[in-house]
Amino acid sequence: MKALRLVDWQHDPEVQEVPHPEPGPGEVVVKVGGAGLCHSDLHILHDFEPGMMPWQIPFTLGHENAGWIDSLGAGVTGWEIGQPVAVYGFWSCGRCYRCQQGLDNFCENTAAMPGFGGGLGLDGGMAKYMRVPSGRLLVPLENLSPAEAAPLTDAALTPYRAVRRSIPILVPGSTAVVIGAGGLGHLAIQILKHLTPARVVVVDKSQAALELAATVGADAGILAGDDAAQQIRDITGGRGAEATIDLVGAETTLKLAADVAQALGHVTLVGVGPGTYPFGFFTAPYEVAFANSNWGTIGELIEVLRLAEAGHLKVHIQRFTLETAVDGYKALQNGELVGRGVVIPEAE
Ligand code: NAD
Ligand code: ZN
Ligand code: ZN
Repeated sequence: MKALRLVDWQHDPEVQEVPHPEPGPGEVVVKVGGAGLCHSDLHILHDFEPGMMPWQIPFTLGHENAGWIDSLGAGVTGWEIGQPVAVYGFWSCGRCYRCQQGLDNFCENTAAMPGFGGGLGLDGGMAKYMRVPSGRLLVPLENLSPAEAAPLTDAALTPYRAVRRSIPILVPGSTAVVIGAGGLGHLAIQILKHLTPARVVVVDKSQAALELAATVGADAGILAGDDAAQQIRDITGGRGAEATIDLVGAETTLKLAADVAQALGHVTLVGVGPGTYPFGFFTAPYEVAFANSNWGTIGELIEVLRLAEAGHLKVHIQRFTLETAVDGYKALQNGELVGRGVVIPEAE
């Protein structure tokens, strides 16, 4: 079968011929119905230096996947062939203290594992079939197609966790700022609007992204630039934001997030950009809590899927094939992709 693979560091991915995966004991093979194009793939492909991750190359990309059960390994029970499923992307050990707490995205054993998941050191979903190491990493889909569900496993799950952290302070009259209304950001807006009464202000450098933000419920859109902080202060009567989610992670976006933070507010960094923020007693208002946020738990994925099944989350999807996925990544890199790109590999 064909697969889109990371063949070398700092190199575009390539379509290669790979063997059809067979499930080993405890494993499940999923026929892929959708694999999302995540900006993290661009960081992995172009920004990571050789040796930075303990991963063997080549491997198949795609860490945001959903499909149908194709075959079950020895000892796997409780699943039906053909059943639609979302694939939880963080392939944790399932046994350590954090995994047993249900916090698989904080697994303590990933350093000793060959990868964090499919598309992250191990073969992922940009192929007609993918092997998943355990049935416990699958969540059944009710009324969503795998193509719609795939982005929910990362592009929605990650901002869901980031938003949840700030729910107690996003009270009526409050303001949440979303920086970067791309694949994750356009879902962050919908999650904020559905789970909180906060006014949602969006900052992006792309006019098309701001237009999508408005259609999915943003209350205000600001083109990134020197006066963005002042515009946010104007909108909030000088008070700034209770919570800001930075989905970019550049020096300028972290500064903006800190500049508009209220005392006791939250700044949550999701973007994997290279920016840093100097932290000291006088660099931010009192008791602002800064955190980075990493993906989400299986429990949170179930909640995200239920939210989408109930019609409260709509992914704006642009479809690609395995052959056109490289163009999709180029569009993502150039800021020309609006919403989420999803690769739909046709089954053989
Ligand atoms: P994307 O390219 O779809 O969206 C990024 C958006 O940010 C675009 O709309 C772009 O126009 C905008 N943008 C870029 N630079 C900007 C700037 N300086 N000011 C304002 N807006 C700017 O990317 P995505 O797939 O949504 O991913 C967003 C980030 O989140 C990436 O860095 C990705 O690696 C990261 N990520 C992190 C996690 C995690 O667990 N922490 C999970 C998934 C993705
Ligand atoms: Zn991702
Ligand atoms: Zn673990």
